[in-house]
Amino acid sequence: MRSYSRVDRPRIIGSITERMLLHSIAYEVLIRMQELHPELHVDVEALEHIKLGFLREPCNNLLGHCSYSSKSRNRPRTQYEDRHGINRILISRVHMVSDLPDAIFTIHHEFLHAILGSKEGHGPTFQEHEPRIQHEMSKICQKISEFERN
Ligand SMILES: [Zn+2]
Repeated sequence: MRSYSRVDRPRIIGSITERMLLHSIAYEVLIRMQELHPELHVDVEALEHIKLGFLREPCNNLLGHCSYSSKSRNRPRTQYEDRHGINRILISRVHMVSDLPDAIFTIHHEFLHAILGSKEGHGPTFQEHEPRIQHEMSKICQKISEFERN
């Protein structure tokens, strides 16, 4: 599934503006998470500390990726990693810039993976919760475009 040639390509850090956009989207999604998913335990304090970044390019049709922390590690690499269990979340920079609603959908998708865990995958609970972000989509898009105008 994962091509080994990808390690030859540079890591994409993105410009400060692109990183701010990524973090703004993640913030707007995260502050709505508990309300969107009242049945789930959403550890917002821990989720706020997940490392966010961009996929290596070209990322083809991969929009995002949530990697779980390795279980063999006996101490967390980052603060609260023991609570959220995530190594990092990466999304496609090209896609973020070209399609904001889809970038919001993707970040919500990856946060859901973080909340539901690797065993759930794209299982029934995941399927039930994933579409809920649509209710907040226009509000988040509006918030983000306010940020982009400044
Ligand atoms: Zn997924």
